Amino acid sequence: MAIMSTPTTFRPVLERIAEEIERTPGSGRAADYIPALAARDPRRFGMAVAELDGTVYGVGDWREPFSAQSITKVFTLALDLAREGDELWEHVGREPSGNPFNSLVQLEYENGIPRNPFINAGALVVTDRLHTRTGDAAGELLDFLRAESGNPDLAHDEDVAASEAAHGDRNAALAHFMASYGNIDNPVPVLLEQYFRQCSVTASCADLALATGFLARHGIRADGTRLLSRSRAKQINAVMLTCGTYDAAGDFAHRVGLPGKSGVGGGIIAVVPGHCTLCVWSPGLDERGNSVAGVAALDRFTTLTGLSVF
Ligand code: GLN
Repeated sequence: MAIMSTPTTFRPVLERIAEEIERTPGSGRAADYIPALAARDPRRFGMAVAELDGTVYGVGDWREPFSAQSITKVFTLALDLAREGDELWEHVGREPSGNPFNSLVQLEYENGIPRNPFINAGALVVTDRLHTRTGDAAGELLDFLRAESGNPDLAHDEDVAASEAAHGDRNAALAHFMASYGNIDNPVPVLLEQYFRQCSVTASCADLALATGFLARHGIRADGTRLLSRSRAKQINAVMLTCGTYDAAGDFAHRVGLPGKSGVGGGIIAVVPGHCTLCVWSPGLDERGNSVAGVAALDRFTTLTGLSVF
C-alpha cells in the first residue's frame, strides 16, 4: 500500500477515523484508582499527527489537555539516557514484563532490578536517577515538554499529583522494595513526590505529538540540537514497541505496528521513525490500562496509511 505522508492526505484519514470512533462510542472505563482521573468522560476522543518539521494537525479533542501519566516515562527515560548513558541499564532492564504496569511480583526474583523503564517500578528507578543528576526531575521534564511542544503553559496538575499521592501505596511499596536492594538513591518520599508530579503533567494530543518528535527525528530536538544519538533514539523506540503498552505490548504491535506508549489518563503516543509522530486520547481504558478507542484509532491509522515499522 502507498505511504501517504502529507497533511492533505493525512487529514481525510484522521477525519475518517474520528467518524468511525464516533459511531462506536464509549467502551472502557476511566482510571478510578486515581480519583482525580475518574471523572473524565470515556467518550471524549482526540487525535493529532505531527510532521518532522513541527507541523501539527488533528481531529476531535486534539487540543484538550489531559493527564499524561505514564506517557511521561518516555521523556524521563530520554532525559536520563542523554545524561548518564548506558550505565542506566545496570539498574533497569529492557525486557517486556508480561505483567501489569504496577505489578510487584518479578522484583524479588530479579533482585530489585525492574524489567523495563515503562512499568512503574522501572520508571521510579529512571526518575530517581534523573533526580539525582538534576535536583528536579519533574521540573526538568516540564522544561523539556514546554520546549519541544512550543507550549509554555504546560504544567503539573497539583490536584492530580495529590490525588495519586493519597492513593499511592502500591508505588510506595515498589519504591521501598527497590530501595531495600540499593536500587534507589533518593529518600523514598522525595522520589514519590517527583514521580507523582511527573505523571500529573497535563498536555494535549498536539503538545504530546510535538514533544515526541525527537524520536521520529532520530534524536534531534525541535530546535535542531541533538538530545540523543541516532542509536539511542532507535533503542528507545524499540523499548516502546516491546514494553510501552505493558502486558498488551504484543497485541499493540500486532494491531498498530509502531513504537507506542500509553498512560492511564487515556493518552497514547506513537512514532513512525523518520516520518511523523501521533498522539491519541480517549479516557476509556481496557483492563490493561490502555485506551480502548486510542488503540482502535492507531490500528485504523496504520491500516489506512500503510505506515508501520515492519
Ligand atoms: N501515575 C500512574 C501510576 O503510577 C501511571 C500509570 C500509567 O499511566 N500506566 O499508577
